[in-house]
Amino acid sequence: MVFDIISRLAKNVFGRKIRIYNFRQLKPTITMNDSINITDIESELATKAPQQILRYALENHNNIAVSFSGAEDVVLIDMAHKIRSDIKVFSLDTGRLHAETYRFIDRVRDHYNIDIDIIMPENDKVEALVKEKGLFSFYKDDHKECCGIRKISPLRRHLLTLDAWVTGQRKDQSPGTRANVPVIQDDKFFAKEGSVLTKFNPLSNWTSQQVWDYIRAFEVPYNELHDSGYVSIGCEPCTRPTGPGQHEREGRWWWEEATKKECGLHAVNIQSDS
Ligand code: SF4
Repeated sequence: MVFDIISRLAKNVFGRKIRIYNFRQLKPTITMNDSINITDIESELATKAPQQILRYALENHNNIAVSFSGAEDVVLIDMAHKIRSDIKVFSLDTGRLHAETYRFIDRVRDHYNIDIDIIMPENDKVEALVKEKGLFSFYKDDHKECCGIRKISPLRRHLLTLDAWVTGQRKDQSPGTRANVPVIQDDKFFAKEGSVLTKFNPLSNWTSQQVWDYIRAFEVPYNELHDSGYVSIGCEPCTRPTGPGQHEREGRWWWEEATKKECGLHAVNIQSDS
């Protein structure tokens, strides 16, 4: 009863449903200021292991899904599947992924016996872009327009159906754009108007080495492209292997400046950094 009254009051005052967390018990409660409490819970969770962060996320959100990019994010699927076998997983199919990545997605589906929602871009938008600018416009303009149509727009559509999502972002993936990635965020960029969308980044504090140690220790399936020198894997035309001493992000959109090497999937980081 008290919960309902406070919830209605909060909605009336802010025009937005507010979910707040009691960080002592690590349980969601309602208060009037979500940004302060997200910060509090972040400092509580920041020192926890990825599995504990995931457990917290899965126990506090029913309508939550893991975003699987077809690279090392499968570590999250492995951890989440050990907590809850009915986890929801989705993957963006831009239409430009490597054949190896498509095979890998299917291997993961079979390995864990899970459904993976494959999210695709809208046909008419892709057709219009290709008709006007060809199949490789990103080399001449920049990658934003193509990523917007093939990634951001379908992701936005899918996130409208969720209350929370889990990503494999890590601080060490990109010093230029991910150095401050928190383990929990209030994702205002993709939230439905009047709703809260919570984003969890349980691997934020892990290094690439820790991810690969986990993959080997638990025999987690991985994309076979990693055996050919690929580290960070996205779409085929925008990804290339990296050599010794190169940062993994140098294999993505290599014709652009380091600070622009984000496709917009994690725009909330760029906004908060600026
Ligand atoms: S990564 Fe490249 S091919 Fe893929 S959506 Fe972005 S610009 Fe297009």
